Amino acid sequence: MTQRLYYSDSYTRQFAARVIEHLTVDGQSAVVLDRSFFYPASGGQPADRGTIGGVPVLDVTVRESDKAVLHVLERPVAESEAACELDWARRFDAMQQHTGQHILSQAFLRAANAATISFHLGGDSVTIDLDVEPARLPPAALERAEEVANRAVTGNLPVRAWFPAADELATLPLRKTPDVDGPLRVVAIGDFDFNACGGTHVAATGEVGLIKIIKTEKQKKATRIEFRCGARALADYGRKNALLTQLAADFSCGVPEVPQAVSKLRDEAQAARKDLRAAREAVMDHEAQTLLDSIPAVDGRRVIRQAYPQRDMAELRGLAARLAAAAGTVALLGAAGEKAQLVFARADDVPVDMKALLLPALAALGSGRGGGDARLAQGGGMSAPWEAVAAALQQAENELRK
Ligand SMILES: [Zn+2]
Repeated sequence: MTQRLYYSDSYTRQFAARVIEHLTVDGQSAVVLDRSFFYPASGGQPADRGTIGGVPVLDVTVRESDKAVLHVLERPVAESEAACELDWARRFDAMQQHTGQHILSQAFLRAANAATISFHLGGDSVTIDLDVEPARLPPAALERAEEVANRAVTGNLPVRAWFPAADELATLPLRKTPDVDGPLRVVAIGDFDFNACGGTHVAATGEVGLIKIIKTEKQKKATRIEFRCGARALADYGRKNALLTQLAADFSCGVPEVPQAVSKLRDEAQAARKDLRAAREAVMDHEAQTLLDSIPAVDGRRVIRQAYPQRDMAELRGLAARLAAAAGTVALLGAAGEKAQLVFARADDVPVDMKALLLPALAALGSGRGGGDARLAQGGGMSAPWEAVAAALQQAENELRK
């Protein structure tokens, strides 16, 4: 069994150890050491990385049968006495986030009576899940929890981890008593927080640095709180500051004025869309009137037939409806292209079924689908060149004039 030195000392990053077993884990070389500062993944905290005898450590796990710590290696190690080194940046980051988590969990108990039910520490995100719905955590509650947590940081409270005897354990106000066999390791943060935990922590809360909540998310009946501590919080602040500074530069305003500038831009875009719609309607009114003027009715009837190389379906419909508003008029409109379209429409006083006229015209163009009723019918979707669309419209007009 490995002597787990990280329990009593989370700051040693270089040490010598004797290799007491060589084995393979899922096809990878691994070793058991007589003593180790390498932390195996557990309780939401990821495993350490580093080197053993100069060989990179890929993972650290615990063998269920005898609780030996297995150090999975990139390749075999020859030495029986090996120099070991932790990836300290990774370990210290884990210590900052993990200690910050203890503090924040206690802060949520105090500020919002919300208990932590799980903890996840990943490369990109650090989260805890609280046993309350998001509605119980309004912005003011989040601010209170942040304030309580950061006060515990600036108080620079000592962090102590030990295995108390049963009688002492009974007197400690643990946040949660886990159901485990054997001695329980307790982590105390001043008198602020007591919790059972096997992880690695900083020696005093000041080392955690800033604790910042950045996001809340509903998780069934729980709430997931995403946060950053220390160097991660600083990096996050840096990214967000750069983003806001860039936005302010793009808007030529100060950072506090960015929301106003976005709101103004949105209003302007909305007004522009409205104006554009009105302008398109006016153009279509004009276009319809020009067509009607250019083709006078003969004996109270006229057919307006137009094939366009390319045109939007909504526009075709709008134009057809305007033309069909004129008495005695039938509009046979078509647009060529990858998805060719036909729109047929008639005035109320023309007794012809537009759908019956449209379907053979679509059939002439291939396999287009059509729909509508006796007054307005439309269809298409097949690829057709302008000449074919023009010919299909001509055929429909010939049919109409019979
Ligand atoms: Zn812990």
